Amino acid sequence: MKPRPMIAGNWKMNGLAASLVEARAIADALAQAGSSAEVALCPPATLIGQMAEALRGSPVLVGGQDCRAEASGAFTGDISAEQLKDAGASLVILGHSERRAGHGETDELVVAKVEAALRAGLRPIVCVGETLEEREAGWAIAVVTGQVEDSLPKALDGKAFAVAYEPVWAIGSGLTPTTEQIVEVHTAIRGVLKRRLGASGEAAPILYGGSVKPSNAAEILHADEVGGALVGGASLKSADFIPIIRALG
Ligand code: PEP
Repeated sequence: MKPRPMIAGNWKMNGLAASLVEARAIADALAQAGSSAEVALCPPATLIGQMAEALRGSPVLVGGQDCRAEASGAFTGDISAEQLKDAGASLVILGHSERRAGHGETDELVVAKVEAALRAGLRPIVCVGETLEEREAGWAIAVVTGQVEDSLPKALDGKAFAVAYEPVWAIGSGLTPTTEQIVEVHTAIRGVLKRRLGASGEAAPILYGGSVKPSNAAEILHADEVGGALVGGASLKSADFIPIIRALG
């Protein structure tokens, strides 16, 4: 069974209350003409509650960008999966390369966070991707499949999560892999999911992320095994994000 595609926006550390107008514009566009995709916005934690309120009744889902593995406790500044859920989130991005590189997150920690998200009833989007050095050395497939193997819990239902392939060198750079390179990596990820989860491994969408914009979205989104997109910069403005959703057709 082919999973429903997902287009998710990662606002990163951008956005103030005034930016909610962009989220409402996306919801309005979907109200006028629906989409075959599940659409989600992952604002900074400060906006999750307000965004969930602003999008109440619309099909646009709200997600977090990270969570702590523990449910509660003395972890100053951190946020648990339960707290994200309580604020109105229904999914959470985990293992983003900006957290792996900037916060020393290991595959092992990502597994614990994925388990926490599932425990709280959130759908994790688990990010993987190679650096430029790794790609140039010919290691892209080995690195990415290794991250998928090691970042997912042993027992998992394919319907409960998504994977995002985000080459580190493509994030925010304007560079994208060729369609053939994207298909090669996504096919390898699907192979790992099917081997690990059996038929259920077909149910997880594999999103592509890294410099997706209105001009390249259609080609990327229609490539084999691409089950949607995780969009950074181009998700901040509805005028960019809506055409990306529409590119799915
Ligand atoms: C991201 O960091 O998740 C991302 C896809 O960023 P951008 O679209 O800006 O490259």
